[in-house]
Amino acid sequence: MTQKATIIDGRAISKEVLDEVRKEAAGFTAQHGRPPGLAVVLAGEDPASGVYVRMKTRACGDCGIESFSHSPPGDTTTDELLGLIDKLNDDENIDGILVQLPLPDQIDTRQVLDRVLPAKDVDGFHPVNVGRLVRGDDNVLLPCTPVGVMKLLDSAGVDPHGKRAVVIGRSDIVGKPIAMLLLHRHATVTICHSRTPDLPGVAREADILIAAVGRPLMVRRDWIKEGAVVIDVGTNQLTEENAPEEILSIPGKRADFEKKGYTLVGDVALDADQVAGMLTLSPGGVGPMTIASLMSNTVKAAVWRKE
Ligand code: NDP
Repeated sequence: MTQKATIIDGRAISKEVLDEVRKEAAGFTAQHGRPPGLAVVLAGEDPASGVYVRMKTRACGDCGIESFSHSPPGDTTTDELLGLIDKLNDDENIDGILVQLPLPDQIDTRQVLDRVLPAKDVDGFHPVNVGRLVRGDDNVLLPCTPVGVMKLLDSAGVDPHGKRAVVIGRSDIVGKPIAMLLLHRHATVTICHSRTPDLPGVAREADILIAAVGRPLMVRRDWIKEGAVVIDVGTNQLTEENAPEEILSIPGKRADFEKKGYTLVGDVALDADQVAGMLTLSPGGVGPMTIASLMSNTVKAAVWRKE
């Protein structure tokens, strides 16, 4: 195998999106006398969630969006969270509400997410926005990771029209909405999951292969059709104790453990670039696009709420 895939660089593409968002946020602030506002709710002390929330809050600062942090304790109740959401829904300075998942076990997550006003639902999880996504409406708040994936494809000049797309993973927040967006762009879409027989065989049919599973390096090189576009959504946090030898032997990974105590790998094998035509890396692919899409959604929500 000699092919060396072109890397679709999520960090570079996300910077372009953020430059645009910064201009739009400045325009909104000039017109309305206040910046777009994003409320971020982090219940409990999940360390990975803490990292994501800090990244999102930092991105707000970079873009001229005001962030409002709310950190209820880990033993908060569903009723308390619903009360907080009601307050944020009523707050005129807040255009977007982000509830960081996962919520603590005792919380009824669906009830909390459904309480967010659809107009402030910058994660695109509310059933009204899900319905609009399925219908293919314009001016909808769409879920951030799927939008980020589509932007990566567009920036790389990959038109899904007429292509065979395979999405591995059927979660409500990643797999299903990505499949729907690809369908709207006229791909022929197959959604796979843990009960799909012959997953490697199905994956090999894909012109566009999306891995959104959460299993380190699961998609092997021989699952990929030569020249396919591969988007690795998976972000798997591994410690030195649970990382397989295959990962420990990657240059730089041991340094990660020493520096941070963990390392991140995607769902796609590291030698996939020998077969794929284009691919994203993880980290450095979909992750930055998710944050950029969140910023973009916040400004959209702010503008639409004023229309
Ligand atoms: P979920 O756990 O909600 O869904 C995982 C999906 O993968 C399920 O549909 C599951 O199938 C399927 N699956 C699990 N094991 C297998 C298997 N052996 N074979 C085939 N399918 C399998 O995860 P999410 O959708 O929330 O996230 C997926 C990945 O994407 C994770 O690594 C997550 O960290 C990452 N992620 C990254 C983001 C980013 O910004 N980069 C944002 C969001 C997520 P079934 O339904 O049958 O159980």
